[in-house]
Amino acid sequence: SQDARIARISSSIRVIPNFPKPGVMFQDITTMLLDPKAFKDTIDLFVERYKDKDISVVAGVEARGFIFGPPIALAIGAKFVPMRKPGKLPGEVISEEYSLEYGTDKMEMHVGAVEAGERAIVIDDLIATGGTLSAAIKLLERVGLHVVESACVIELPELKGRDRLGDKPLFVLIKAA
Ligand code: AMP
Repeated sequence: SQDARIARISSSIRVIPNFPKPGVMFQDITTMLLDPKAFKDTIDLFVERYKDKDISVVAGVEARGFIFGPPIALAIGAKFVPMRKPGKLPGEVISEEYSLEYGTDKMEMHVGAVEAGERAIVIDDLIATGGTLSAAIKLLERVGLHVVESACVIELPELKGRDRLGDKPLFVLIKAA
């Protein structure tokens, strides 16, 4: 059942307190990757949701969006587009700056990877404040894509990242404290 799959996924994720700094409860999805059934259930749940939605772009956010995005893209017959930290992509890029707790960061995507009018989902492992996903959505919309939904394995609802996405839908498998 759906619930049994979610339960298995949830228990496959390791929580490490105070990483990378005091006060953070780090949700470590690498332990899920060691459990092929939990990993496959995760991919399947996203594939079941997106397979008949006419999605031609799966955009994955560096770094853990690069783990979940490609198998979903292959299964639904969409292209995978990496959204990377600055200076990593070799071709011409379009970029979007976004604010962090201290300072700013930037996200880049290859120009020409997508065409205006394509339907996209954007995927990452986790949404905290929503800063990362909202930057990704902005970047994709600037090049004329229709962002159908954002998808994450885990949401930290207390940080209200969902609010930061405004009216953009967000789909998550697990809500963590
Ligand atoms: P945010 O932009 O605040 O929504 O942060 C989301 C990004 O930071 C994602 O790429 C996550 O992988 C990472 N992240 C933030 N908080 C955590 C956490 N508690 N555990 C694991 N990853 C996190």
